[in-house]
Amino acid sequence: MTSRIFRGSFTQQEPIPEEAIEAAVAVMRSGRLHRYNLTSGEHGETALLEREFADWQGSKYCLAMASGGQAIQTGLRAAGVGDGDKVLTNAFTLAPVPGAIAAVGGLPVLVEIDENLRLDVEDLDRKAAESGARTLLLSHMRGHLCDMDAVMAVAESRGFQVIEDCAHTMGARWKGTKSGNYGVAACFSTQTYKHMNSGEGGFLTSDDPDLMARATILSGSYMFYDRHGAGPDEKHFEAARYQMPNQSARMDALRAAILRPQLRLLEENIARWNTLYNTVADGLKKSPAIVVPRRPQEEDMVGSSIQFRVPALDVAGCRTLIRRCSDHGVQLKWFGDREPSGFTSDHASWRYFEAQTLPRTDAVLSTLFDMRLPLTFSPQDCTLIADIIVENADLVRT
Ligand SMILES: *Cc1c(COP(=O)(O)O)cnc(C)c1O
Repeated sequence: MTSRIFRGSFTQQEPIPEEAIEAAVAVMRSGRLHRYNLTSGEHGETALLEREFADWQGSKYCLAMASGGQAIQTGLRAAGVGDGDKVLTNAFTLAPVPGAIAAVGGLPVLVEIDENLRLDVEDLDRKAAESGARTLLLSHMRGHLCDMDAVMAVAESRGFQVIEDCAHTMGARWKGTKSGNYGVAACFSTQTYKHMNSGEGGFLTSDDPDLMARATILSGSYMFYDRHGAGPDEKHFEAARYQMPNQSARMDALRAAILRPQLRLLEENIARWNTLYNTVADGLKKSPAIVVPRRPQEEDMVGSSIQFRVPALDVAGCRTLIRRCSDHGVQLKWFGDREPSGFTSDHASWRYFEAQTLPRTDAVLSTLFDMRLPLTFSPQDCTLIADIIVENADLVRT
C-alpha cells in the first residue's frame, strides 16, 4: 500500500515557449493586434498561422477563429445547417458541441457511444434513418477516433454530410489519415486545455472553397477576405459576401503569434503525451477491476487525457474511489454523477432541447472516470498516479 501522495496539478500547463512570448511582444510593440491591421506587403501573424496550419493538417483551406465553439458554429452554418435542421451528434461530448448546434437553430439528435467511448455506428445508422438528418457533427471526444471507414460508409448510404470536432484529436490519425480530413469540414480548438494553448482560439479547415468563403464572411472578415493565409479565391465570395451575416469571431494577431511556435513543437508534444498516456494505461491495466478503452491498431492517438471504467462499482463505490484518490492528490472526473460537477458532458444537463433516452451511453458513463495529462507531468508522476488509482480501486471493491 502506497502512502505516497501525488503533488502535481492536473490543470497546470507548460509555459508558453520563449520564442512565442517574443513574437507576442513584437505584435504588442507594433500596436497592430487586429488581424487585418497590416502594412502594405505584410502578411500578419494570423494569415501566416492559417497557411502553416493548413499545410500541417493537409487541408486546402484554414480559417483561424476566436474559439473552437465558434469554429463549430461557423462550420455548421457554412455547411447549410439552419433553423429546425436535425444534426446527429455524440451523446457523450463537451457542451460547446450541442451548444453550437443550438446556436444555429439546429436540433441535436444524440447518438449512443460504446464501451470504448466511440460513436455506436449501428445507432448512428438507425438514428440517421429515423431522423432524416442531413448532418453529423462527429465529436472525437477525448481523442477516441471511431472506425472512420464505417462512419463514412453510413454517411454515404444515408446521405448526410460529416463535420468533425477535432478538439481532442489535433494530430491524431485513422489509418494514416489525419482526423479532420474525413468530413466536409473540421473544427479545432486552441483553448488552454487542448493541444496548443492561446487561451482561447480555434480553426476551421476544409477543402470546399464555397463553404470556406461563407465561413470567412461569417467570421467577420468585412471586405478583407483577400488577406487570408489559406483562403479560397476571390470568385468564391461573390454570393457569400452578401448572404452571410457577420458574426465577428476572428482570431487576433497576438494569439496567432503565440500559436505559430507551438505548431512547430506539436509533433514532439504528441510523442510526449503518448508516453504519459501509455505509462498510466500500463499501470491501470495491472488491476483486474479497471478497464481502459481499447485503442484500435488503425488509430494514431494523442493521449492528452485518459479515461477508464471500474464496471463493478456502484454509485457509492464511485464516490469512495474519488474521495480516496483525491486524498492522495489524484483528482478524477466521474461522468456518472447525476448532478454534473466539474464537467458539462452529461446529455441530461443540456435542457435547452428535448431530453433523449440513451441507455447504452448512460451505462458507460455511470462508471467512467477521466483525467487530464498535462505535459508538466513526468512519466514518474504517471506511474505514481496509476499506482494510487489501482490500489484504491482494489480497496473499494473488497
Ligand atoms: C474544448 C472543446 C471544444 C471547443 O471548445 P472551445 O472552448 O470553444 O474552444 C469542442 N469540442 C470538445 C469535445 C471540446 O472538448
